[in-house]
Amino acid sequence: MARSTVAQWAEEALPAMTADLRALVGLETPSHDKALLDAGLDAIHRWLADRLGTPGELHRHDGGRHGDALEVTYPGTTRGVVLLLCHYDTVWPRGTLAEWPFEVTGTRATGPGAFDMKLGLVQAVWGLRCVRELGLPVPTVTLLLTGDEEIGSPVGRPHVERLSDGALATLVFEASLDGALKTGRKGVGLFDVTMRGVEAHAGLEPDAGVSAIHELAALVPRIAGLADPAAGTTVNVGLIAGGTGRNVVAGEATCGIDVRVATPEEAARIDAAFAALAPADPRARVTVHSEWNRPPMMPNPASQRLFKLAHGVAADLGLTLGEVSVGGASDANFVSALGRPVLDGLGALGAGAHARHEHVLLDHVPVRTALLAGLLTALA
Ligand SMILES: [Zn+2]
Repeated sequence: MARSTVAQWAEEALPAMTADLRALVGLETPSHDKALLDAGLDAIHRWLADRLGTPGELHRHDGGRHGDALEVTYPGTTRGVVLLLCHYDTVWPRGTLAEWPFEVTGTRATGPGAFDMKLGLVQAVWGLRCVRELGLPVPTVTLLLTGDEEIGSPVGRPHVERLSDGALATLVFEASLDGALKTGRKGVGLFDVTMRGVEAHAGLEPDAGVSAIHELAALVPRIAGLADPAAGTTVNVGLIAGGTGRNVVAGEATCGIDVRVATPEEAARIDAAFAALAPADPRARVTVHSEWNRPPMMPNPASQRLFKLAHGVAADLGLTLGEVSVGGASDANFVSALGRPVLDGLGALGAGAHARHEHVLLDHVPVRTALLAGLLTALA
């Protein structure tokens, strides 16, 4: 009885939810623009209060030069806490909206950040609103909105780890992959390899110099060769720079690498391989700066039980819920690595994250909202 009521409620909410999506996409919130992030979060804060009422608790955590994190808690009717996790920053720079405004064509809506992940934020808020308005049992819900997810969550991470501790579930509203939830995500390593050579005049005394560019270039194929597709490991040398002039033997060169791994074992292999990098000319020196930005997310037993619960709730809504492992990382990786129950991909259906064809499919919004409402009630 309750489930069909939930589905109907969510169906009727679609026009208002679409209007909310338009408003949120209309707030430009690039990860690197503190002024826009602050103004965006102010507006989101007002919107939250309007849609959900005054929270039991509210904390706005200072993000310094990054986006602040907003933590709001709505007391439940039963024991336990569920954490809903969203980020409000996007990869799109200031001004993108002027050339690419929010637009609805049929059931498809497009606009910067709509898919990743402003629709997820709308669904999280309306899913909670649904159970509250219908008076269904619900655990205490904490919503955490972070403003630095797209740059690795230096501000958000401690809050994600603190609030997921002891939670019945952490539900992450990153986009879905064709409806499936994301129960596996790769870990991401950020590596910088810097080569220092010896500068010299390229014509007068080339032998006195050691080219940092030549030395670094020789290492690039070795770095790229660390990829192991069968093991799920990818390696991309995505940045390279160096030298000061055409007629100068380069004194310094550097490259930036993105590594993705599916297992901790592969992360260890990559670390060892980078540590062993050496230049051919002993006068050159190589240094490696590495940072594992997020650990790999592998399904843990607590998350597998949570997925089964979600699968059952979805089945009641006439939905067959799948699960997938993907290459992109999210804040769910932090929660999973601690062995805590987490589900990701509860957000939008659509495609084109971080790309110009970014769009969402509005006809899936009601059932995804109902799925969250049903899941919250099932956790109560
Ligand atoms: Zn995202």
